[in-house]
Amino acid sequence: MIEREYTSDVTADRSGEQVAVAGRVHDVRDLGGIVFLILRDARGELQVVFKEEDDADLFERVQELNREAVVRIEGEVTASDQAPGGVEMVPDSLEVISESTTPLPMEVSKDVDANLDTRLDQRFMDLRKPEVRAVFSLRSKLLAGMTAWFDEEGFTNVDTPLLSQAGAEGGADLFPVLYYDKEAFLSQSPQLYKQILMGADFDRIYEVGKAFRAEDFGTSRHVSEIGMFDVELSYIEDHDDVMDVQEDSLRASIEYATEHAQRELDVLEVDPELPDERFPRISFSEARSILETEYDHVPEDADDLDTKGEKLLGEYFEEQGHPAFFVVGFPNEKFYYMQDVPGDDIASRKFDLIYRGQEISSGGQREHDYERLLQRMEEDGVDPESFDFYLDAFEYGMPPHGGYGLGIDRLVQKVADLDNIREAILFPRDPERLTP
Ligand code: ATP
Ligand code: MG
Repeated sequence: MIEREYTSDVTADRSGEQVAVAGRVHDVRDLGGIVFLILRDARGELQVVFKEEDDADLFERVQELNREAVVRIEGEVTASDQAPGGVEMVPDSLEVISESTTPLPMEVSKDVDANLDTRLDQRFMDLRKPEVRAVFSLRSKLLAGMTAWFDEEGFTNVDTPLLSQAGAEGGADLFPVLYYDKEAFLSQSPQLYKQILMGADFDRIYEVGKAFRAEDFGTSRHVSEIGMFDVELSYIEDHDDVMDVQEDSLRASIEYATEHAQRELDVLEVDPELPDERFPRISFSEARSILETEYDHVPEDADDLDTKGEKLLGEYFEEQGHPAFFVVGFPNEKFYYMQDVPGDDIASRKFDLIYRGQEISSGGQREHDYERLLQRMEEDGVDPESFDFYLDAFEYGMPPHGGYGLGIDRLVQKVADLDNIREAILFPRDPERLTP
């Protein structure tokens, strides 16, 4: 490794010590006779002071540097009340590791608002900004906290195929791919494979994967390639057991991030801490009636809540101190694998988790009875023959089970309080974007 320290470790109490730092030329401020170079690395910034009277050669070289060049500087740590963070560095040597051209395709050091398209076009440069990179450190910690919870609770981390002969939900939003001489599809959801694994006695599983949906929504919460955190577990009593898992793992994830990504949360100026009280669980019909009586809003589709509805419900519960809540019992039309509950006042054992006014996960109890599942498929106009590979797993005994799929990008978007889901994804894919 190249010998260097992070700027965040160069603190005023080390005044007098010799250190080496490496990173980018964030900015060069020429005050005539004295030049301040702001060096930026992955963990912060450090001011380096070049004086003509100290070293004329170094002084000349620093003035020739372009912003964003990669450099390594050795020098002495000096406490200084005027310097940011009360510390600066007086250099002995300056090594240019890699030059940068001018002009820059977009600004990193100056506070210039670039629109999201420009930012995504120049993503490598955009990601150099600490507040942009903070989103991805936060994302990494949210996932680490979540997977740690599942590992602790005895869940097995699995990988299911992304290439399939048929989609879990079928429909127009599948991406076809040429698979040798056949047509295949990119996975919409690992739903069917998760259930097959319940039939194979995996008991409790999670998968951190991808889902692909050719949805042409152009909204701030839909993309074509989705980060998915999928969960499935057996021997549940009902969907409440699944919601418990969803809630507890989300709490663990946010707690872990609060502990291990405090710097990122500060940079992003957000505080995702959840109240101790359990998330409210309201029925679909309750949700509809809150919307109607409190906001005079009736979602167009009688079987769903629309974006505006979710947002309004989010405000309603936020005011009561609940950033997250479940809506339970959606009408069960499209989902043959969900369980019907005869005589229940809820139409199905399906739920959505709404966090900060946006659906971030959907789940429920699944149908585990082979005969009823066949019947549901036929009612839904799904040809059981093309799902043999799935149905076989039910014919020889299947424990009651349920699970959910959590959109990782939406979770990060909401925790980091980002306007657009694309900001939560390194290289987002949507109908208009296939590069970088
Ligand atoms: P929506 O109604 O908001 O379009 P959905 O109900 O179609 O979402 P599900 O099939 O329930 O989505 O997928 C589970 C989760 O995956 C969602 O709760 C969401 O977090 C995420 N998700 C689904 N589709 C997308 C998408 N196109 N872009 C980003 N995330 C998505
Ligand atoms: Mg959903």
